Formats: sequence, C-alpha cells, structure tokens
Amino acid sequence: MDIRKVGVIGAGHMGTGIAHVCALAGHDVLLKDVAPDIVEKALATINGNMARQVRKGRISEEQRQAALEKIHPVNDYEPFAECDLVIEAATEAEEVKREIFRELCPHLPPATIIGTNTSSLSITRLAAATDRPEKFMGIHFMNPAPLMELVELIRGIATEDATFQAVRAFVIGLGKTPAVAEDFPAFIVNRILLPMINEAIYTLYEGVGTVEAIDTAMKLGAHHPMGPLELADFIGLDTCLNLMQVLYEGLADSKYRPCPLLVKYVEAGWLGRKTKRGFYDYRGEKPVPTR
Ligand code: NAD
Repeated sequence: MDIRKVGVIGAGHMGTGIAHVCALAGHDVLLKDVAPDIVEKALATINGNMARQVRKGRISEEQRQAALEKIHPVNDYEPFAECDLVIEAATEAEEVKREIFRELCPHLPPATIIGTNTSSLSITRLAAATDRPEKFMGIHFMNPAPLMELVELIRGIATEDATFQAVRAFVIGLGKTPAVAEDFPAFIVNRILLPMINEAIYTLYEGVGTVEAIDTAMKLGAHHPMGPLELADFIGLDTCLNLMQVLYEGLADSKYRPCPLLVKYVEAGWLGRKTKRGFYDYRGEKPVPTR
C-alpha cells in the first residue's frame, strides 16, 4: 500500500513538526486541532522553521513554497476520509486519544492506517479503542521532528505485517531511519535515556556533583552533545517525571524510582526551559545553575 495523503491530529509541538516533515517529503497533509487558531499558529511556526532551513541552505525556496501549499488546515474529521494514513499527535492523555479515535474512525475507509505518536501509552490498548487494530501502530517521532533522524516503529499485538511494511516505507520516504521497538513502556530511546537523566538527578541529589560538574562530565567524558540536566530542562521536567512514572509503574521495578529531587522541581513549577527555571535559570542572558 502506498501512503500519499496524510492526516495529522494535534497541531502542538509534535504535530507541527510531523506536518512539516510530511509536507516537505511531498505528501498532502491535513492538520487538525481543537481550534482553528492553534492550527494557524502551527502553520506560522512551520513557515518560520522552513524559512530557517532555506537560510541554512538545507532546502530551496521553491521546496518551502511547495511544502507550505501542501498543508491544509481542517476543522472536522470528514476530510480525513481521503487519507491513507492518519497520525494522532494530540495531548498525551489516554482519554483524549480514545475520544479522537471514536470520532475519527467512522469517517475513514477500511484501508486507512492509523498511527499514534504516543511516548508512553500502550499501542495495543490504544489500538483496541479503534475499529481497526490490525491497521494501527506506533509511529514515534523524536523531538524536534524535522531535525531528528530516528522514528521508532511499534506494532501492537494485532498489527498486520502489511500495515507495518507500508508505514516503514513511508518513514524511510520521509528521510528518517526507523528503529523497531516492542510495545513495552517508553519503547527504546526513552527507556534508556530517562533512567540516565534520572540517575544524573540522583547524582545531584546525593551531592556527588554540582549541576555544572555533572553536565560537564557527561559532555566531555561521554561525548554527549548536551549534559543530562540541560537535556532534562529541554525535554521538560514534568515530561521527565511522567516518563519515569510510566517506567516505574509499567515495569514494576524499583530501579526506575523517580528521584525525589525531580519531584520537588516539578512541584515547584520549575519545569525547565518552558518555565524559564529548572536545573538552570534561563531568565538572564546566560543559563545559571539553580543549585
Ligand atoms: P502538545 O501539548 O504540544 O500538543 C498537543 C496538541 O494536541 C495541542 O495543540 C492540543 O490542543 C491538541 N489536542 C488536544 N486534544 C485534541 C483533540 N481532541 N483533537 C485534536 N487536537 C487535540 O504536545 P506534544 O509535545 O506535541 O505531544 C503530542 C504527542 O506526541 C503526545 O502523545 C506525546 O507523548 C508525543 N511525543 C512528544 C514528544 C515531545 O518531546 N514533546 C516527543 C515524542 C512524542
């Protein structure tokens, strides 16, 4: 099956990036959120991000124009009937996603594949909330989608091979590299990355190193492009805590216990870059460690 027209539900951070990537690869894209102004804002973001790609010489002005024309804002689910693939990238809450599938499915022809960008929910459980578990799978883009090369592909228990192969070919066509993960909490990247970040926070909590020492150590000693605490602030400390809780509860293993210091930062509302304070304070010219 050839995937040409793509629907994207949720025009937040990830949906915006996914629409960007799909349009640049030549797909017609329908983009929907709960309100038209959110989609308008997403289009402005895509326009700005593509303009930056033009300035950096990564794409041509013609490619930018052509891609922008391929993204169509929509307000309801009827137009999704023309899509070969619909990618759900809405808020990470099971009830929100279930409601979307309830409304979406009656409009789709039987052949349409549904993908979800969820970072932490069970693909098999979400599939069961649709009328087509065999045509449902996880298509997990990394953040920011236009820059990150990897897409994790996750089959649910019922996903058919034809669905998987069509999505795999689609992802390769986007210029991304797929990595196949089984349907277990947090898949591969977050299963490995988040415990590393949580351990960095324990290292700070136990006084083994300062914020600066920990980040410098991992940048220069392990060649990580960003220190783990800097990275935690970038991801959002609430998101980090949520993912650690998913691992802790989903795998029922104490080695995933979220660090109490991470909990404290989230309780303070110090969520990282987005609130201008986390392990660093971003309110001045230069980020300054907060401990
Ligand atoms: P976000 O909060 O930036 O965007 C979510 C969007 O979904 C919002 O614009 C919201 O208005 C919209 N939405 C809510 N209910 C809706 C509905 N019923 N219909 C249509 N739109 C609806 O969140 P995000 O960071 O873009 O995350 C989206 C998904 O991608 C989540 O499942 C998340 O786990 C996953 N994800 C996030 C990241 C990340 O780093 N942010 C990385 C990979 C995957």
